[in-house]
Amino acid sequence: MRAEVGEGVAEFTQQHGTPPGLATVLVGEDPGSAIYVANKQKATAEVGMRGFDHRLSADATREQVVDLIQRLNGDPAVSGILCQLPVPGHLDGVELTGLIEPGKDVDGLTPVSAGLLALGRDGLRPCTPTGVMLLLEDAGARLEGAEAVVVGRSNLFGKPMAQLLLGANATVTICHSRTHDLAEVCRRAAVLVAAVGRDRMVKADWIKPGATVIDVGINRSDDGLHGDVDFDAAAQVAGAITPVPGGVGPMTIACLLRNTLQAARMAVR
Ligand code: NAP
Repeated sequence: MRAEVGEGVAEFTQQHGTPPGLATVLVGEDPGSAIYVANKQKATAEVGMRGFDHRLSADATREQVVDLIQRLNGDPAVSGILCQLPVPGHLDGVELTGLIEPGKDVDGLTPVSAGLLALGRDGLRPCTPTGVMLLLEDAGARLEGAEAVVVGRSNLFGKPMAQLLLGANATVTICHSRTHDLAEVCRRAAVLVAAVGRDRMVKADWIKPGATVIDVGINRSDDGLHGDVDFDAAAQVAGAITPVPGGVGPMTIACLLRNTLQAARMAVR
């Protein structure tokens, strides 16, 4: 997919004399967020886009961040804007992402993008759930009428994931921290998507034999990086399963690049 985006970028640049541009906004020094942003900027350059890497200190004021986002909204060289979440506690991440011009909302998290998704209309879609849909397609998962269970209901992932699965005619259940009999609900799933942020919480006996399992979780511990699924045991039961690291993470970045190209094309239409 990155190669495909690279070809699209070359064609766009030839036609319009300038490449699509992705601006990232990172507030604070959270090491995890800094790695994500660096990876996104590296991938941006690799496909031939321009990258604008904006960093503000952890004590940046709301006004400073708002001013930066508004400048980026008005900059024709910037096709897409991503405000890396979470932001420091004195700032409101939902408010700040909501200030991004909808046509530049390559993370698909503004109220306009969320509304278009809820209505089933075209728009920029959140990168991680979109990447999951592409992985499911690639794995040949049959979604029509199938039981799909999403564990996690965040605005960033769980809710848009459920809506995309619903749009593909799956029968969708969303689980969260108050769900009764979580293991039992998961065992019904032909497609199980875990996005909780709890190291190897989903056990092999929560998985229906032959199910397609997508692990979105990223959990850092002393013995390395793990997902939300107990991979080694789960792989013995699942029909297909994504690893962590690998799997969903690289797809998220590929979808971000694809969204940036889409935003650049929309801007010149
Ligand atoms: P989040 O906002 O913290 O949401 C976590 C969700 O899990 C919440 O809905 C929470 O329920 C639910 N939950 C927590 N404990 C639970 C339990 N014991 N049983 C059932 N549900 C439980 O996290 P997020 O932003 O959605 O991210 C989730 C994970 O995915 C994290 O590890 C994150 O790093 C990873 N992630 C990866 C990518 C990628 O590109 N690979 C992208 C995004 C996120 P409540 O709503 O009831 O609190």
